[in-house]
Amino acid sequence: MLVDNAQLLRPGFERTGGPIEQHPPGGASSASQNLKLTPAQRRVFADLFAIGAPRPVAQASLADDLRALLKDRLTPVLAGWTENSLWVGKSQLATVMRCEGQLAADASQPRSKSLPLPTAIGIVVHRAIQLTHTHPGRSCDEYVKAAIQGSRSEQAFEAFWLEAPDHIQSDVIVAAASRLISYLDSIPPLQSSWSPRFEEPISARIGSLVLAAKPDLVLGRPRPDGRQTMLLCDMKSTDLRDYHLEEAHFYALIGTLRYGCPPFRSCVLSLTTMEWTAPDIDASMLYAAAERVIEGTTRIVEVLTESRGASLVPGRHCSWCPSKSTCPSHEAWDQAGSPSDPTMYAIGAAPVTITAEAPRQMVSAPSSRTEENPYSF
Ligand code: SF4
Repeated sequence: MLVDNAQLLRPGFERTGGPIEQHPPGGASSASQNLKLTPAQRRVFADLFAIGAPRPVAQASLADDLRALLKDRLTPVLAGWTENSLWVGKSQLATVMRCEGQLAADASQPRSKSLPLPTAIGIVVHRAIQLTHTHPGRSCDEYVKAAIQGSRSEQAFEAFWLEAPDHIQSDVIVAAASRLISYLDSIPPLQSSWSPRFEEPISARIGSLVLAAKPDLVLGRPRPDGRQTMLLCDMKSTDLRDYHLEEAHFYALIGTLRYGCPPFRSCVLSLTTMEWTAPDIDASMLYAAAERVIEGTTRIVEVLTESRGASLVPGRHCSWCPSKSTCPSHEAWDQAGSPSDPTMYAIGAAPVTITAEAPRQMVSAPSSRTEENPYSF
């Protein structure tokens, strides 16, 4: 750690609440100087965590209103879903909004038990970051070693690790160390008073629909006065992509439903570029996120229950689609030179058959880690 925890908990910082409540003498600038932050950390401290800045107060009925909207519009849709629960996470939502055929293709695939390399790296990095908070003062090498040791208690990771030849294990160690250092040099040391949580599962149930998320970092706690005091942050080792803003708003919607009050910020942060999606959250963004959930859930139910055919919309995402070799839409788009506008190669309602034994389980995975959406790090 770059500063010790005693320094972080000096007078002027409250012990309860989130990054939101901090009003150190001299303001955020003075506080960041006292903490001896790197330039990148100072930027996150001031511009993203916004230490010392006032927080908005959400309309008291906002969470209830959003829940009522979702319930009204989705109750008839979910009547067609015969299982007890339909879990929907960001991956399923993004997939069905991109190409319904890909959702059907994914659902018909047996679930792979082997861990892809990016996923294995992500598991180690997440654990290492958590260790930097719970066990400050150690070297990056020690964190990575301890993280690998801990990860081996997970069956899938242990199988990956035992099968991995030396050079793959080396790739994991090197990549994890690199990402950990990027994190430590870019994110201010997390104060206990900010109530940091790592990969905290949050979910919200609407009838049989369960919206689920696991943001990499959550700061702050809900307040009785309705101030928006939470910050949700998902971190990526890639640069930012178009769909990351929708992911951040999806997380904010679940947080709002879960806690009864919206976060003041929700973002996806790239550790590669140290950029983040526009973080402020307001009611209009949450309503837009709710509309996307309604449309996406409707599509998921219709396609997976085979009550209608699936639309096929080709694009870059075809590269990881299980149907790539047989899909007529992809073939036509590919032969045309893969133009950026795929509209004329889309097919409206291709018949689908969900052949996997339990496609609902695929949709039910709240933290599905697929090729197109590898583990956040
Ligand atoms: S190959 Fe492309 S267009 Fe065809 S189903 Fe898969 S993602 Fe959709």
